[in-house]
Amino acid sequence: MTNSPPVSLQFLGAAGGVTGSKYLFSYGDDQLLIDCGLFQGLKELRQRNWTAVPVDLARLRAVVLTHAHIDHSGYLPRIVAQGYQGPVFATPGTCDLLKVMLPDAAHLQEEEARYANRNEYSKHKPALPLYTVHDAERSLQLLRPVRNAEPVEVMPNVSLNFGRVGHILGAGSARLLFKIDAQQKNLLDSGDLGRYGRPILKDPEPAPNTDWLLIESTYGNRVHPKDSENGLREIIKEVAARRSCLIVQAFAVGRTQELIYVIRKMEDAGEIPTIPVHIDSPMAIEATEIYCRHTEEHDFEMAQLSSHEGCPIRSRHMVIDRTPEQSKAVNDVKGPIIIISASGMATGGRVLHHLKQRLPDPETTVLLVGYQAEGTRGRSLQDGAKELKMLGEIVAVRARVKVLDGFSAHADQDEILRWLGTFKKPPRMTYVVHGEPAAASTLAEVIRDRLSWNVEVAKYQQKIALQ
Ligand SMILES: [Zn+2]
Repeated sequence: MTNSPPVSLQFLGAAGGVTGSKYLFSYGDDQLLIDCGLFQGLKELRQRNWTAVPVDLARLRAVVLTHAHIDHSGYLPRIVAQGYQGPVFATPGTCDLLKVMLPDAAHLQEEEARYANRNEYSKHKPALPLYTVHDAERSLQLLRPVRNAEPVEVMPNVSLNFGRVGHILGAGSARLLFKIDAQQKNLLDSGDLGRYGRPILKDPEPAPNTDWLLIESTYGNRVHPKDSENGLREIIKEVAARRSCLIVQAFAVGRTQELIYVIRKMEDAGEIPTIPVHIDSPMAIEATEIYCRHTEEHDFEMAQLSSHEGCPIRSRHMVIDRTPEQSKAVNDVKGPIIIISASGMATGGRVLHHLKQRLPDPETTVLLVGYQAEGTRGRSLQDGAKELKMLGEIVAVRARVKVLDGFSAHADQDEILRWLGTFKKPPRMTYVVHGEPAAASTLAEVIRDRLSWNVEVAKYQQKIALQ
């Protein structure tokens, strides 16, 4: 006789793709969401944000966010708008970043709806935002900061702890502990797994044993080149020599801070000349301050430098463009100049007006340093597009486009295997999530062949019984 409640997990996003992370954990009548992310990229994916998620908000007891990236957190204001009022558990670093990122995401939603109404391109009249800044502000009231490794009861009979994964500030794996037939069981979601030996943040921690594992696979079929810093050095030297412009299309949170840190290091070592570096993203500016403040996440070198000379996330000639006017004025600045701007996949943000202005110029270099999802302008640039549509115009691409994958915030296949190698015993079952189909299936094969683990690729909306 068993009196344990039924326990299950359903993949409501980041299965068959990299965005919309949402995993619904059910324990008897109670439910919990691990991550609450927005779908991004291809239109058919973004439309999923508008279809109701199969979550009964009356049964939803908690939301757990592994990190602040919008594809993991950006759906939260939507469920809050629909009536969710329960707690949202996240690390202190994640909570601080969300205070900047969720209102910004809401602002973009509102702007998109306004634009659609003005230009009447929406078939819904009037077009409505997915959520408002007010909904985002209400979401922030629900945040419950939980320190790394600190266990917390998130709903009756289920506790949670985060483990450091080094992806961006605050990023953690999420481990749920619960009982089935009086036996302790675990489910571990890797979250977005970071890298080893990268600047600023500590490395991923060894993984705790688990019964069920969800492992991300963004770069499950790739190995990052080892010489990205050389690549960046050469690009900057060339830009300086030609007195031209380098536009770095970078995620405001994580990539921007790492780039500034590396540029400062090269300047200190005399490897590159000092040229003006414009930080042209309000979110990047705020995120940099948050990165400097969270000393508990700093690696040894970052902590040492900070104690001697203040936060080392700054270059020698750094220009902070806070206002839209300052940003527009950059259009008239002649090289040499480096503009680091967001969004990282050129789906919106200030980087668009820099690209519109400078892409037609063959002297400009555009650098892509992060993952470019299918259907984004960044992906088109990476794939060699000769023109791009942006801000209502067709813009010719004559600039040189360079890609440096080594600045990615995601573990590559070798690094994923290194982390999996820290398990003392194999999970009973491993589900590969958060990867485009080729990356996910390759990683699953590698795990099966090299580690002999039980593994399968998670499917969108698939529900599994945990027993
Ligand atoms: Zn992420």
